[in-house]
Amino acid sequence: MKPVSARALRRYADRCLGLQKYLRQPGDGRLQPVIAAVTLLWSLLVTRVLREISFHAVEQLVHSAGCQSLGIQRSFGNDALGYFTERLDPAVTRAALVGTLHRAKRNKAFENSRFIGLAIDGTTAGHSTQHSCALCRPQHNANKEVIGYRHQLATISVVGAGLVLPFDGEPYGAGDSEYAAGQRLLARALRQLGPRFANYLVVDSEYATAPFLHAADRAGIQVVARLKDNLPELAQSVERRFAGQPPTSTHRDGKNRIEIWDASDFAPWETLRWDRVRVIRYRQHKPDGTVIQAEWLTNFSSRQLGSLSLYHTAKTRWEIENQGFNDAKNRYGLEHICHHEPNSILIVWLITFLAIMMERLYRIRYLHRGTHRRRSADQVCRLLWLSLSCPTQLNSS
Ligand SMILES: [Zn+2]
Repeated sequence: MKPVSARALRRYADRCLGLQKYLRQPGDGRLQPVIAAVTLLWSLLVTRVLREISFHAVEQLVHSAGCQSLGIQRSFGNDALGYFTERLDPAVTRAALVGTLHRAKRNKAFENSRFIGLAIDGTTAGHSTQHSCALCRPQHNANKEVIGYRHQLATISVVGAGLVLPFDGEPYGAGDSEYAAGQRLLARALRQLGPRFANYLVVDSEYATAPFLHAADRAGIQVVARLKDNLPELAQSVERRFAGQPPTSTHRDGKNRIEIWDASDFAPWETLRWDRVRVIRYRQHKPDGTVIQAEWLTNFSSRQLGSLSLYHTAKTRWEIENQGFNDAKNRYGLEHICHHEPNSILIVWLITFLAIMMERLYRIRYLHRGTHRRRSADQVCRLLWLSLSCPTQLNSS
């Protein structure tokens, strides 16, 4: 088995993920830096993987573990991280995230999957009691009184490809919206990824609007979107058609029984420039008696994607919640505000995504080669921690 250490992770990031240039030239806007950008940036990345989420913790870890075992040159104070992240250009970190995805695809990280999907969704990441920056969005109680502030972002992630890799985020402050941020995010992501990187985009119902679907059309990506009552005309004709019909097909999926209604000839709503809309309704019967029913619309034809495959594709929408937001928050501190300044907040979100991407590719695709069982994220985290106390052994690894 390959050794696991912070220094080995640094070598992997440099050589296998191609991050060496980014780590040295990450868009550092400091005028006369005393501490090299690579030292601060790698410290932020490796300590995120170690699940230490505050700038103060980064400073303490660098002091107490020693620079050599972390793969950096020198120690520093936590105020240096605030100053650095305020001045780091997010475009360069975004390009590094997309570059890492391209390299992962070239290295066949997704080769066991027929399709590569993208999911977009919004989340809250960071609360505060005071209004402190341009990204603070007021939170109201039932009487419309402001009870605090929160930070929100739309996020895009690779899904449905065996690895869930969030790779960009777009903040939306007061007066902005998740929907507008999602559109900006989609346009940027598809421009940077190129037209052939992903096969589909899966989104929740608030994105099932004509402008969003047209934007996806222009970018050449097909969409699977949740259908709810925000499209009343289509939702009602689906109900009228499917309610009186037996399912088009039934399937066994593990311990679940799946009934699917599938029709490709619904009329588009007034503003949608599609010839026809395909809609599936699935009814998932779980062994405990629970039944889950949902409707999804798409421009995939039934020849391109059969009913059961479309059901599975729709379900990949949950990956951005479960292995995206939940892991990012519970393990990697996405909700913690390290330094309350808009650029710094965005940079820390992007660095968190890069740390997650690095950890997953390292653990699932690099360490896992061979016949042994895949190590869990918790196991690799513990091994990385243990590596910090034995630098001499690591020199030979
Ligand atoms: Zn704020």
